[in-house]
Amino acid sequence: MAKHTVTLIPGDGIGPEITTAMRRVVEATGIDIEWDVVEAGADVMDKYGTPLPEHVLESCRRNKVAIKGPITTPVGTGFRSVNVALRKELDLYACLRPSFSIAGSGARYDDIDLVIVRENTEDLYAGIEFEEGSEGARKLIEFAAAEGAGIIRPDSGISLKPISITCTQRIVRYAFDYAIANGRKKVTAVHKANILKHSDGLFLRVAREVAEEYADSGIEFEDYIVDATCMQLVLHPEWWDVLVLPNLYGDIVSDLAAGLIGGLGIASGANMGTDCAVFEPVHGSAPKYTGKDVANPTAEILSAVLMLNHIEERDAAARVLNAVREVIAEGVNVTYDIKRSNTGSTEGSVGTQAYADALIERL
Ligand code: NAD
Repeated sequence: MAKHTVTLIPGDGIGPEITTAMRRVVEATGIDIEWDVVEAGADVMDKYGTPLPEHVLESCRRNKVAIKGPITTPVGTGFRSVNVALRKELDLYACLRPSFSIAGSGARYDDIDLVIVRENTEDLYAGIEFEEGSEGARKLIEFAAAEGAGIIRPDSGISLKPISITCTQRIVRYAFDYAIANGRKKVTAVHKANILKHSDGLFLRVAREVAEEYADSGIEFEDYIVDATCMQLVLHPEWWDVLVLPNLYGDIVSDLAAGLIGGLGIASGANMGTDCAVFEPVHGSAPKYTGKDVANPTAEILSAVLMLNHIEERDAAARVLNAVREVIAEGVNVTYDIKRSNTGSTEGSVGTQAYADALIERL
């Protein structure tokens, strides 16, 4: 039996509870796995002077596979997102978020099976920003005016949206390669190229060029404007297969896709790079539920299913997925969110660890 060493970043908020549940379920499959547990986020700031210490990155690089809980980002001020920094530092350029129906989730639809491929390193998430009133903002405003590019109000804060040929090529290729490897039929590039000529316009042009490279693959290609995509996802979720999007649209449409399948509690994800992969749920740290043993660990556990497949533990992955499907379909030992979606009340729901116990019994 192959032995695996996986970096585990518990995170904060509900992170430690849901990663404990995930860890228990994965260990109960009987695979040989060792966790290299490292901490990141606000809690380690005092000790290391940074929310993302170098030894955390080193652990991910060394083990090549990591799984994490959510990490809180202070709003507006304070340090930038650790989650975004991790993706950038490890060049985890592809964010993969499968969205599939689970019977008993209480979702409005029962036939969803789509995959979001979100570019993870650039766009408005590049973190290139100029504070209102700063020297940088003043210079940029002057430059835009001098270039005849447009007038920006002097009291503006500015965030840049870089989209490159390099990153667009690799994310669209990733989407096609994923589609081929997973028996998918269609890739849709999502953009706002009609308005954003030089960023989304480039994304669309390069996506079309890459689609040409895959003309003989049997995978259909189409493109769609992001606002129309949101509406059609709600009206006709069954139309969609693999969607490839720049960073910000990918973030927003991922939450929409999570809503289609019954909420953030069951939406899993992976950040894939050339050398390293970091698995994590779509949701954040849900601070209001911290320490209450109520959060739904399914999204974290389904992220572990993606991880298990990635490390070739396909049998364990299938068993965990089956256990999730069985327990949620039964509707007895489920967390508050699933109970409420089904019955309108949280009455009779079980806690995070009791739900994990029910999964372990089914493995
Ligand atoms: P959130 O995802 O934490 O919560 C949104 C809503 O979903 C809340 O009502 C929450 O209670 C519910 N929810 C989320 N996960 C749940 C679960 N597992 N079970 C049951 N209910 C769940 O989003 P937010 O409130 O906007 O963000 C909170 C913090 O998390 C912020 O600091 C944000 O920056 C951070 N965040 C981190 C990540 C990450 O670590 N990758 C992702 C998104 C947000």
